[in-house]
Amino acid sequence: MLLYQELTLPSGQKYSQPLGLFINNEFVPSSNGSVLITENPGTGKVITSVQAADPVKDVDRAVKCARKAFKSWKSVSLIEKREMFFRLAQLVQDNIDLLSQVESLDSGKPVKTNAREDVEAVADTLKYLAGWIDKTGGDAFSPAKGKLCYTLHQPLGVVGCIIPFNFPLSMMSWKWTAIAAGNTTVFKSAHQTPLSILVFAELVARAGFPQGVFNVVSGQGDSVGTALVRHLGVDKIAFTGSTRVGQLIQRNASVNLKPVTLECGGKSPIIVFEDADIDEAVKWAAFGIFYNMGQICSGTSRCFVQRSRYEEFLIKLVAFTKESFPVGAPEDPDSVVGPQITRDQQIKVFSYIKGAISQGCRIILGGPELPNIIADDERHNGGFYVGPTILADAEPHYRVVQEEIFGPVLSVGQFDDYEDAMRISNDSQYGLGASVFTQSIAQAHQFADEVESGMVWINSSNELDYHMPFGGVKMSGHGRELGKYGLLNFTNVKAVYVNYCKL
Ligand code: NAD
Repeated sequence: MLLYQELTLPSGQKYSQPLGLFINNEFVPSSNGSVLITENPGTGKVITSVQAADPVKDVDRAVKCARKAFKSWKSVSLIEKREMFFRLAQLVQDNIDLLSQVESLDSGKPVKTNAREDVEAVADTLKYLAGWIDKTGGDAFSPAKGKLCYTLHQPLGVVGCIIPFNFPLSMMSWKWTAIAAGNTTVFKSAHQTPLSILVFAELVARAGFPQGVFNVVSGQGDSVGTALVRHLGVDKIAFTGSTRVGQLIQRNASVNLKPVTLECGGKSPIIVFEDADIDEAVKWAAFGIFYNMGQICSGTSRCFVQRSRYEEFLIKLVAFTKESFPVGAPEDPDSVVGPQITRDQQIKVFSYIKGAISQGCRIILGGPELPNIIADDERHNGGFYVGPTILADAEPHYRVVQEEIFGPVLSVGQFDDYEDAMRISNDSQYGLGASVFTQSIAQAHQFADEVESGMVWINSSNELDYHMPFGGVKMSGHGRELGKYGLLNFTNVKAVYVNYCKL
């Protein structure tokens, strides 16, 4: 079996792709010889196949190595740990060209306008997390004479991290919070995008992280993912993915009552009041759903505009989207919208669009057929492209408004007043993000207070800052990533009572 393979990137650059499971800082074969095939969403052609973990033996091997490493990782000084994070961030920056091209090849992200930003974000996240390493302490106070109480924030042990396909490297980097908090990890990459994390894994070893702190098992979710979640040696699961799988994970994790953080699906509203700056609202509305091919959990996929500005908004939205979101091959530097992740996903998105038409929506951009692709040639025949699609006249109960499509599809409808807008916003099983456009400070803050979501953007959409907690409510999951709340999710808070007076 192959543990490395020389691959040629679309740019013509050759590189050595690791294919093994990454356990104890080395690439090793699967113990049952199975493999996971990965394909290029831009062409539909197979790229290669990586070693797929045996759900019993290999997952167990990775967890045991992480468990052994946990003891020694605890004894590494915080300064040394911080230096490792900085070295790794530097290595990511030094290898940004390769990492972004591999990310693009495997996920279909346009390399220049998307994948590169993700890799930059990985380096930034690691630097941000480095700053938390020596700040995980608790509180101390004296409740009475002769009494002292304090809390210790201790790592949980081995954390199983399960990541989705839509931001393979950057979602992974968020879960490095577990390592910053003193835990060791076993990562399961998404079955559609196993490549970039293995290239990154080589850098982890080069940065000097001890064996077993960061392990990667590739494989399918229902076998390898389930085995990791049910493993009794795993102390916590940090999951990012669909709500359906989140439900399975919560159920399976109950085997030893391990805590779970669930970052699941969304259907975030974007509400545009008549006093809004419409040109700004148009730009953010388009960015909030068409970036990353609409494969964004917090994507603002249902837009409602107050009646008096509705037609103006639609005309401007179509013009702006046509100009700013060209569809192109992932390697094309001018491409902003690449292919969907798989053929199944492309078919699913087309079927949602057809369903919306039959329910009463009006297509004002895009549609359920292959879009024009800039600089098209036969190399991209077979790619899983869907063009940015805008569906006007959407009603709150339509399927495209209620269900997560996870593609570049924005449904737009109208509302009458604040109460109507709030009712529509909260009429969803999800509660990840919500965006509001208004010039009224009072209206904006009332919206932020009353909307049922984990995040709110006032006069923007899908902005991200590492200091801020990321996560949702309702069927979008629970727990938070990033910021100090994200860090707390990876620690056990121990209460210590000290008595130094005699009874
Ligand atoms: P998915 O749920 O299909 O897969 C996510 C991960 O879970 C993959 O690694 C997969 O192999 C694994 N998996 C699948 N079945 C499993 C099981 N039974 N047990 C354990 N692991 C299993 O999601 P996806 O298609 O990769 O990603 C898209 C979804 O992720 C969307 O619903 C999106 O909203 C969500 N998402 C959420 C956030 C967030 O922060 N809230 C961020 C990104 C993506």
